[in-house]
Amino acid sequence: MNNKEIIEKAKTSHILSKEQLVSILADKNISSFLFKSADEVRQQFVGDEVHLRGLIEFSNICRCNCFYCGLRKDNNNIKRYRLEAEKIINIAKTAKAYGYKTVVLQSGEDAFFNTDKMTEIIKAIKQLNLAVTLSLGEKTKEEYKAYKEAGADRYLLRIETTDKSLYTKLHPNMSFDNRVQCLYNLKELGYEVGTGCLVGLPQQTIEMLADDILFFKELDADMIGLGPFIPSPDTPLKKEKGGTLDISLKVMALTRILLPDINIPATTAMETLDYNGRIMALQSGANVVMPDVTEETYKKMYSIYPGKAGLNNTPEEYKKNITLKIEKLGRTISNGYGFHTRRQNSSL
Ligand code: SAM
Ligand code: SF4
Repeated sequence: MNNKEIIEKAKTSHILSKEQLVSILADKNISSFLFKSADEVRQQFVGDEVHLRGLIEFSNICRCNCFYCGLRKDNNNIKRYRLEAEKIINIAKTAKAYGYKTVVLQSGEDAFFNTDKMTEIIKAIKQLNLAVTLSLGEKTKEEYKAYKEAGADRYLLRIETTDKSLYTKLHPNMSFDNRVQCLYNLKELGYEVGTGCLVGLPQQTIEMLADDILFFKELDADMIGLGPFIPSPDTPLKKEKGGTLDISLKVMALTRILLPDINIPATTAMETLDYNGRIMALQSGANVVMPDVTEETYKKMYSIYPGKAGLNNTPEEYKKNITLKIEKLGRTISNGYGFHTRRQNSSL
């Protein structure tokens, strides 16, 4: 079978071997066929609705030193901030006023937000009848349990790369096994679990990317967020090449084909590489957009990588623009919470 035939078959079986994934990822002439196929699977399984989730970046303080990230602890060239609980809750109220049904609370691994502080914030936001997604990094199972009991619905924790040796090189003082354990703990606690990877990391091969996709399937993830690695100044990887939009979209499209009914965001990193990156992603398997609702001063300081898309728009402008673009594609903005259709374990 050639790659087109392999993809055609996978559209109904949702199975691909590592060898088949590698062959497709290596194929320079398959992108448009692959993207179209993923778009068809997306339409068949999750329909034409796009779910908007309001992203609140509430602290850029981090105890970790991930080699690729501008927020890493050893970067002394960024101004650090953390928002007060009241401010975070007010931003969630604004997100609700924009019509968002979910807020995503994201931060560096900031110990200031201990269990009591986090649960207080989660409970207050749940009073607004919003779904809450957390993206706070690695925590103990007890902490994850407390957030869940406070009402958190989903958790995003990218595995970043499933190659243990590459993971270890890029994450000083962190453990690959612990990261995997965190994902299984989250699943056991009843979260909708999101993971994903960085595409184009130094020394990453397409075999590793194929393993990443198979890991997503094995975990039976509810969401997959992935995007290109974009070199960030003031990090050890500042001189590296970074990932391309094409290979990122290929990994995303293959993920849609293998996990047909999950939620897949068109990520900011994709839009950062190409003005049309998010729209291309929405046409290649994605069904979620996470507009940044953080105030301008702070979202500029949340500088994971340079040139982050959307920095020069107010949340209001961004919502208007993305709505127009989505409608132009013949798609609609969802009025629902956008839970993983197969599971629907919402507390709302
Ligand atoms: N601290 C939490 C964590 O690491 O899970 C959440 C915040 S962290 C900034 C969110 C994501 O940003 C990470 O999972 C990583 O994949 C992504 N990221 C960090 N540096 C990046 C870079 N240089 N290019 C693209 N994405 C990057
Ligand atoms: Fe911290 Fe997350 Fe950045 Fe790693 S990726 S340095 S954990 S903010």
